[in-house]
Amino acid sequence: MTEHHLDYDVVIIGSGAGGGTVARELADLAEQGLRVALLDAGGRFRKRDNTRREFEMARKYYVDNGGFQTASQDMTLAFCEAVGGSTNVYTGVTFRPPERVLQKWNVPTLDLDDLEPRLEKFEQENNVHLQPPENINRNNQLFREGCERLGWEIGQFPLNIRDCAGLNTCNIGCARFAKQGTAQVQIPYAEQRGVEVIPFCRVDRISPGRVEAKIREPEHGLPPAHYPAGDYIITARKIVVAAGTLGTTPLLMRSFGKKAWPELGRWFTCHPALTLVAEHDEQVLGSQGHPKSYYCDTFVESDHFLLETCFYFPFVTSKNLVGFGPEVDELMGRMDHQQQILVLVLDKAKRENRVTIDRAGNPVVHYDIDASIRDAMIASIRAAGRLFFASGATRAHLPATGRFFTWANEVDQLDDLVRPERFRTGQVAISAAHLMGGCRMGTDPASSVTDPWGRLHGLDGIYVADASLFPDSAEVNPYLTIMALASRVADAIREDLGAA
Ligand SMILES: Cc1cc2nc3c(=O)[nH]c(=O)nc-3n(C[C@H](O)[C@H](O)[C@H](O)COP(=O)(O)OP(=O)(O)OC[C@H]3O[C@@H](n4cnc5c(N)ncnc54)[C@H](O)[C@@H]3O)c2cc1C
Repeated sequence: MTEHHLDYDVVIIGSGAGGGTVARELADLAEQGLRVALLDAGGRFRKRDNTRREFEMARKYYVDNGGFQTASQDMTLAFCEAVGGSTNVYTGVTFRPPERVLQKWNVPTLDLDDLEPRLEKFEQENNVHLQPPENINRNNQLFREGCERLGWEIGQFPLNIRDCAGLNTCNIGCARFAKQGTAQVQIPYAEQRGVEVIPFCRVDRISPGRVEAKIREPEHGLPPAHYPAGDYIITARKIVVAAGTLGTTPLLMRSFGKKAWPELGRWFTCHPALTLVAEHDEQVLGSQGHPKSYYCDTFVESDHFLLETCFYFPFVTSKNLVGFGPEVDELMGRMDHQQQILVLVLDKAKRENRVTIDRAGNPVVHYDIDASIRDAMIASIRAAGRLFFASGATRAHLPATGRFFTWANEVDQLDDLVRPERFRTGQVAISAAHLMGGCRMGTDPASSVTDPWGRLHGLDGIYVADASLFPDSAEVNPYLTIMALASRVADAIREDLGAA
């Protein structure tokens, strides 16, 4: 096959929260003539491509339909391949990184003074605000009422939505583009100023100044790349790797070897999550309205988990239930009476939890659901049970009880019913969507992969700009932090281009 050649000043690989932001931040230089390309392995979605059909959209957006499994097969990881990356399917919850997290990360120059102007800029650009009370649906109101009855702290999520019609299909792509992801905001801004976006372009390997990629024929009826399908050698002065936590480490390993940096792929975290379901006598209609309005952080310090509102689609909801048969049918048959709660465990980075590659160069994730995570999950199931019943639920489906339903009159026995020995990994559906780490920032090449500005240690002209940079978990929904880090990387590129 013919090998095609392209040449740029800057090539950005991956167009999600990280890569899309680098493109936006370099757009003024593109306007002045710098040749910048933004490549993504996935296609470009238009509003009409987001059909709201659960299976179809899971196939179109998610790697392994959203069911990518860790090596031990006891947790699934959700991440996307599309122009805009996982921001196409995120829920739009927007948090600043807490100061305690930046202190824990302990990366020189990375502090609130540096981050605040960047965070504020992206909050404004993405229209981050609190939903007015009339837009908060019954599923969310029940969560609030339950927390208030129990005297638990409750917070309202800042959301980055514009003209949201409450379709509730955020996690399979919004048919109105109401969530403000990089495909809606930062990438159009960059393109208007001359950044070239190339969809369906998967990068296989890089070396300083050189990118080996393949452009493929379009899929799912999406528009093709403006170059013919085939093998490409792309030369560039600066290369930015922003392929996401499960794209960046594998690309660096394929290109430079698994041990090119001692910590490459390590310190992976992901906020392991449980989706819990209860049933009310009243009709809740959780599938109407934005799914996420409230969170409860009462247990963050003591038990390391957050409770959040959520409302998932029929298949995802039923796959999260432990069991088969008539009880599943009964609960799923009354989905309009369901209340749902999402548990996020705030996991701590461990060196053994890591991303690596198989022989074909594809990602493999080793992650241990250890005692600290199990303890947090047991405590969270008990807490969610209390919250469901305080909200007025008649019965709840609580894992680790050994039975399908727990009833409202059993609320005082939750500590006895939800037992650690009944919590079986592989049986309880654990999933995660906040994938972080693998290329941690720092100053010492022995304990980090990049410098505090995303420059790969020991290799000039190659940068990392995505969630891989996190030295430990974010403890909050991470996209805004990723954008702020990506904007720092863009500053480093500017400086290095100037120096060159
Ligand atoms: C269902 C869901 C809900 C979420 N909700 C929220 C939320 O409400 N708030 C929040 O803060 N976070 C949320 N997140 C997390 C957030 O979306 C991610 O943390 C964020 O998008 C990660 O940014 P990234 O740049 O690291 O990777 P991504 O956004 O995943 O982008 C990586 C891109 O790289 C591309 N790529 C990978 N490999 C290659 C290659 N070899 N060549 C070319 N391109 C490649 C991929 O196609 C992808 O487009 C959610 C995630 C999911 C899945």
